Amino acid sequence: MSGTGPVIGVLALQGDVREHEHTLAGLAARTLRVRTPEDVAAIDAIVIPGGESTTMSNLALRWGLMAPLRERVAAGMPAYGSCAGMIMLADRIEGGRADQETIGGLDVTVRRNAFGRQVDSFEADLDMPVLGADPLHAVFIRAPWVEDLGEAVDVLATVSSGPAAGRIVAVRQGPVLATSFHPELTGDTRVHAYFLEMVREQT
Ligand code: GLN
Repeated sequence: MSGTGPVIGVLALQGDVREHEHTLAGLAARTLRVRTPEDVAAIDAIVIPGGESTTMSNLALRWGLMAPLRERVAAGMPAYGSCAGMIMLADRIEGGRADQETIGGLDVTVRRNAFGRQVDSFEADLDMPVLGADPLHAVFIRAPWVEDLGEAVDVLATVSSGPAAGRIVAVRQGPVLATSFHPELTGDTRVHAYFLEMVREQT
């Protein structure tokens, strides 16, 4: 870690940690791999990668990270989750393991693996007005969608066509941002840039 500016933690238990680090580094952000409670204390924001949310949740509990992450996010630390990371930030899960715990912070219910077997993985262009007029090319891999949301949650993007048209795939509640898809895999850095802007507003 070098330079100045807020330290963006990347939860490094499982999943596509490197891809997020790479995208953030390309935007000149300082990053820190988060694996211990001490790491959680050292960061100004957290990115939670895509991967497998039940495994991530188990590891977070085992490594003593769940409680400190919950505390920091509840206290207003900016957080961004992609795919499994969205699930980790949701207050409620459908289709999860009965005992699957989350960090929470987003007043939403997410449905795991929501798009179904036939469309396990797909790509789509989305309108995401907070990122500007150009559509965002989004990659979905066994993705969740937001099934239900509280009043404080803003919808930033929905699927525009096909069988899943209208499904909510990007949301924000104050300093917490989540996408069903993986901007860290496409080379389009606008979602991460938007998150870094959120972090700057907060810190
Ligand atoms: N289906 C995964 C889960 O529940 C998420 C998939 C992903 O992050 N690409 O955790």
